[in-house]
Amino acid sequence: MKVKDCLFCKVAAREIDAKFVAEGDDWVAFRDINPQAPTHVLVIPREHVPTSNDLRPYQEALVGQLVRAAAEIARGEGIAEEGYRIVLNCNRGAGQSVFHLHLHLLGGRPMRWPPG
Ligand code: AMP
Ligand code: ZN
Repeated sequence: MKVKDCLFCKVAAREIDAKFVAEGDDWVAFRDINPQAPTHVLVIPREHVPTSNDLRPYQEALVGQLVRAAAEIARGEGIAEEGYRIVLNCNRGAGQSVFHLHLHLLGGRPMRWPPG
């Protein structure tokens, strides 16, 4: 798939509407269109990275930014203390459906373990 056809590249470029909650120089965060919890936010890099298998050493700081952004958003949503889950699905066997790396921030309800 070409980057120009990537759904989340288009969201990051504001070519597709989304409910943005925060953004930084290298990432954007927006509400999932099909929320699985009261808070369900996706945090994505602006740079196109298909899966976590494709991450390169120069992107280590970027991954840290994504996780820290999710934690900040959780604080803003008022779920940091009760707890939340950060999910990164890699490839179809894990449920990945959009091949632009993204963290799911889920919270606002009890989370079961193990996940399905
Ligand atoms: P995954 O299955 O881990 O690849 O997650 C992809 C997520 O993107 C799913 O939870 C979808 O509901 C969500 N999604 C798909 N299209 C959009 C969109 N246009 N805006 C917001 N979220 C979306
Ligand atoms: Zn992309």
